[in-house]
Amino acid sequence: MKVTQSEIVISAVKPEQYPDTGLPEVALAGRSNVGKSSFINKMINRKNLARTSQKPGKTQTLNFYIINEVMYFVDVPGYGFAKVSKSEREAWGRMIETYITNRKTLKAVIQLIDIRHDPTKDDVAMYEWLKHYDIPVIIIATKADKIPKGKWQKHEKAIKEKLNKAPSDPIVVFSSETGYGKDKAWKTIEEYLES
Ligand code: GDP
Repeated sequence: MKVTQSEIVISAVKPEQYPDTGLPEVALAGRSNVGKSSFINKMINRKNLARTSQKPGKTQTLNFYIINEVMYFVDVPGYGFAKVSKSEREAWGRMIETYITNRKTLKAVIQLIDIRHDPTKDDVAMYEWLKHYDIPVIIIATKADKIPKGKWQKHEKAIKEKLNKAPSDPIVVFSSETGYGKDKAWKTIEEYLES
């Protein structure tokens, strides 16, 4: 998709606030600092539309971005902060669960994983949970420019194995720094929009 138009339409805390246009959407999830905001900005050709991680203690919202008036990106607050209280973690869980399990227009979840490291316990738990609800997942392996190209395949394989990734879920190697993987990521997303 060639993105010519993007804007944030709402930061929602409850379902009544989700857009009701019926347009398809993909949600984006990942550990804090994985490169989620950078991914969104790169994909929609904006420097700064998606803000960097919502820090613990701030209101956690689902941020809906409308793209070319045909779809939404839904930015889910990052997980895996070490210093998050139990009540904050529970509130996050309730919000995500409500969204994922009720949203008819959700076509896939993009889960971002840092290509340099094995998925964390939180990454694995998130993936398993999405699979439990039968949600198609697109894995984006971020920050590819930080390791030599010759090592990508080995790291990709480690991610697949640690996640026990379903064969039907695609994985795309990506760099927000260089733009590597952007076209493939868009092609992959577009396939899910039509489903
Ligand atoms: P978020 O917390 O998941 O939204 O992560 P951000 O997008 O804010 O990125 C966290 C940090 O990683 C920032 O310093 C980014 O500049 C950096 N970063 C994100 N993506 C890439 C990438 O593809 N390559 C490199 N080299 N740095 C990246």
